[in-house]
Amino acid sequence: MNENRKFTSIALKINASFLLKRFFGVIWFNIVLCVLIVGTYVYWINEHLPENSVAEGYNFKYNGYYRDITYNVETSNGKEYTYKVFDFFDYLAFPGLCLLSFECLYLLGCVGGTNKIRRKLRPLNELAKKAEEISSVSLDYTKFENLEHAIYNVSPDAPGAKISTDDKDLQSIEIAINNLIYRMKESQKQQTRFVSDASHELRTPIAVIQGYVNMLDRWGKEDEKVLVESIEAIKNESQHMKELIEQLLFLARGDSGRNNLKLEEINLKNLMEEVWEESLMIDEKHVYSFDGEENLIINGDVAMIKQSARIFIQNAAKYSPEGTKITIKAKLVNGAPSYIIQDEGLGMNQEEVSHIFERFYRSDEARNGNTGGTGLGLSIAKWIVDAHNGLINVVSSDELGTRFTISFVKEI
Ligand code: ADP
Repeated sequence: MNENRKFTSIALKINASFLLKRFFGVIWFNIVLCVLIVGTYVYWINEHLPENSVAEGYNFKYNGYYRDITYNVETSNGKEYTYKVFDFFDYLAFPGLCLLSFECLYLLGCVGGTNKIRRKLRPLNELAKKAEEISSVSLDYTKFENLEHAIYNVSPDAPGAKISTDDKDLQSIEIAINNLIYRMKESQKQQTRFVSDASHELRTPIAVIQGYVNMLDRWGKEDEKVLVESIEAIKNESQHMKELIEQLLFLARGDSGRNNLKLEEINLKNLMEEVWEESLMIDEKHVYSFDGEENLIINGDVAMIKQSARIFIQNAAKYSPEGTKITIKAKLVNGAPSYIIQDEGLGMNQEEVSHIFERFYRSDEARNGNTGGTGLGLSIAKWIVDAHNGLINVVSSDELGTRFTISFVKEI
């Protein structure tokens, strides 16, 4: 039988009780009708006895064949009258047949009605079926023991670590646990890569500093040129190291949820105007322009949003030739308060754009260009924008330069 057409006890009970009610309703109606007809027949005969005689006793008599049933009346004047019941009931044969057909049609209609009920009750049927199924499943505790055993034996450090019980009933739990193990391993891998990249990046300035210290030790005491050059290099490298460590600390605090935002209402136009004025003072090698719309109010952390804007602006300056224009805007983009930083620099191809928010990523051009970056700036900017429920859109081409649009699409 088709699974979907199976009936549960609930639906059957409802169907059966609906049909039985209608059926007994018809039977009762017929009984009452018969009693009324027979009563009317008896009353009519008694009232219309010949010679105005009065009935004193009456009975029905069965004479061996149903058509010979008679109604007998004894009257007060000692006479007895006999009436063949079916002489009268023959008149009722046709209306009786019509009534019976009508009743049959009515009952058939009720069967159709139960189909409708059945359809309406289908979800209830399914529910009851599932409940029956669940209640019929006996809990097998050895399955849980097997699962426990498999979890206990898995070594999360092993490559491709997975649990497996070969049990179909436990498949979905197995998949969920294996997904969890996979995500844990991925995050562990990321963490390890981060630590190794960080160590690698710190090793370079330390090696440079060490080199200059050795040079100072050998010749710096007598040679003033070596002395000045070494001090300058050590200053630069230690400054670079300080920046790197500050950026690493920011990201580490972000990862562990300790970078708390101090939220307040911010006028985005005013904030970006301040960053623009700062840039004018710091960098005289580029042409900065600013354009801002009024009433761009967002909820955010002033210091952090400024920090993110500075990262995009410093990158625009780092990766654009001197004398080119850097445009800063604050405006509504697709209905969201946004700021835009656009440069006329060296731009990036699609492949590069897809990596720029990864920690320590620097394009080959950036590495060779001696621009002095760490590869962490955009990771920090992205963390800040994400923390403000914002979105970053990047459009870049080798000919035109790069445009970053940061939109605060949702309130925090
Ligand atoms: P970095 O310290 O190297 O600037 P970021 O994380 O800030 O690190 O940027 C990552 C890389 O993205 C950069 O090394 C550079 O290759 C690329 N990049 C970022 N901004 C721009 C830009 N405005 N124009 C061209 N390339 C850019």
